[in-house]
Amino acid sequence: MSEGAAKKEDRRKFQAIRGTRDLLPPETALWNRVEQTAHEVFYTFGFAEIRVPIFEPTELFARAVGSDTDIVSKEMFSFTDPANVIKTLVQDALQAGLGVDVKNIDHAFQSSSEEKVQFISLRPEATASVCRAYIEHGMQQLPQPVKLYYTGPMFRRERPQKGRYRQFYQIGAEVLGGSDAPAIDAEVIEMVMTFFDRLELQGVQLDINSIGCRDCRPKYVELLRAELLKVKDKLGPDSQRRIETNPLRVLDSKLESEQGIIATLPHIADHLCEDCAKHYAEVKHQLQLRGVMYRENWRLVRGLDYYMRTTFEITAQGLGSQNAVCGGGRYDGLVELLGGPPTKGIGFAIGEDRLILSLQESGKAPAPQGRDVYIAWMGERAHATAVRAAKDLRKAGFSVELPPVEQKFGKALGQADKLGARFALILGDNEVASGEWTLKTLADGSQQKLTESQLLDFLRKL
Ligand code: AMP
Repeated sequence: MSEGAAKKEDRRKFQAIRGTRDLLPPETALWNRVEQTAHEVFYTFGFAEIRVPIFEPTELFARAVGSDTDIVSKEMFSFTDPANVIKTLVQDALQAGLGVDVKNIDHAFQSSSEEKVQFISLRPEATASVCRAYIEHGMQQLPQPVKLYYTGPMFRRERPQKGRYRQFYQIGAEVLGGSDAPAIDAEVIEMVMTFFDRLELQGVQLDINSIGCRDCRPKYVELLRAELLKVKDKLGPDSQRRIETNPLRVLDSKLESEQGIIATLPHIADHLCEDCAKHYAEVKHQLQLRGVMYRENWRLVRGLDYYMRTTFEITAQGLGSQNAVCGGGRYDGLVELLGGPPTKGIGFAIGEDRLILSLQESGKAPAPQGRDVYIAWMGERAHATAVRAAKDLRKAGFSVELPPVEQKFGKALGQADKLGARFALILGDNEVASGEWTLKTLADGSQQKLTESQLLDFLRKL
């Protein structure tokens, strides 16, 4: 590269990678409020927070979410850990009785089996990690069920659009162990609905379904496959492919031309085994007891392999086609599938980005908060008083802007206005000498004289 080109390269502006974005103030205040509300509401339901790593072995997600799912087959950000690769290769070379030099590592590389090299993925969801942690920390020894929640970023290589990102945020909860009593399903759903209610999320619609268990679902899937084969020619290429790979997903189709055909397909509710049918009926009863309004949606199947019996999805207004803000369901076999003891499980994940979008669209976002007090000071003595005043006001919990260098009062007041400050505290020689400070209300320009303790009393009473 020529020197000129290198220089030009240096000056290149960086941009966030497509599908990722910066969350900026004042929007971050809304993010904080949403997360704070989650902490508060989930606490009242007896849930405690868990924080799991951002990356995990690829195999964990392949096994839990399912290697045939879109998420695992095409959407994960995966890489190998170079140190781990080299360690594996060196071990292989030594085991084969070879010295370790570049040539032998090369030989080992050729012969090493893939599974020895650790493949790592950025987490596309967190249920698998929470179950891994449940097993790893022997949480089955704790009083059951264990109720955990998390918040944080997830990563999926999806086609970015409004409400769909490659780095997005989820707030989720899981109930693990103990029983699979339908009241647990209903309470988990009640908790999400309470959370949404507290946030005043608009146009909330809860859809529920039961997708059966290992006994009854395969029979229904076969029936569905047989029915779909009869109408194969009328389906689009995606659905045609899914007849073989995962017929349930055909029910998810949004393709206009397929809707008429899908409407004629058999409903899983009519093919549940006795236990699943009883469980589903009781979940509905338990929701009614809690005053949770729902709509039964026999086409709700969810795209992850681990779900069984209860599945649910919640949509909200103002989101266009990506209007699902929460998805969840029961996954009784998952912990066992990951090598743990037989364990019941149910959980949900809320898409926080979409939740925030919906709140903004319906005007539920709080107004940006300006400073409470801007301290306009002039002179050396006033500066010392201003520093002390700032400290006291902040200690009392007020947001204070203390200009680092002296400004003319006119400029200081202009700055206070731009920052949306509610009050300007004017400290000049006169104020310091008399101990009576001037407080200007910026909205109406009125001024009053107050001593330091009167000022604190005045602000506290607002
Ligand atoms: P899932 O883990 O696929 O069940 O998704 C649960 C929720 O996460 C969805 O209802 C969405 O609100 C949200 N979500 C999933 N994928 C994305 C994405 N790529 N961007 C933004 N939100 C997402």
